[in-house]
Amino acid sequence: MQRHILGFGRDDEGDWAARLACGHNRHVRHRPPFINRPWVMHAAGRASWLGRSFDCLRCDRLEWPARILQHRPPDRHIELDSTGTNRFDDPGAPSGDWRTLELGQGHAMLFIDALHIERPLTPDDAVPIPPNVAFRLQTSGQAQAWLRTYRLI
Ligand SMILES: [Zn+2]
Repeated sequence: MQRHILGFGRDDEGDWAARLACGHNRHVRHRPPFINRPWVMHAAGRASWLGRSFDCLRCDRLEWPARILQHRPPDRHIELDSTGTNRFDDPGAPSGDWRTLELGQGHAMLFIDALHIERPLTPDDAVPIPPNVAFRLQTSGQAQAWLRTYRLI
């Protein structure tokens, strides 16, 4: 999904990477003749890309960001059952916030329509949910889950 570029930095090997608003980094190498990004070699070129967006494949794969996140209680306890509330909808965490979804008990499916993700939650598996990504949890029986929030610092 598209993420704003906040800045640029170099990795241990000296390659340039864009620092994205989601907390992920994305390499923007200049290695002619195969990868041509001459703009990244100059401060003015990099500055002209600030505020633009890159597609972040790490968000699409629900990868936890490398940057440091701080746990922001309270955690939310979600209870689902087959009688009435068998579905929980979340509009997504605001920019800068990540969430984790962790099954406490039962069986539930996680749906993230924007990323074409549909997968069962398994116990002790805390699924990272990137910022601004709506999701829903659905069960056919009883289930309990925990939703925790983390802020990029
Ligand atoms: Zn990302």
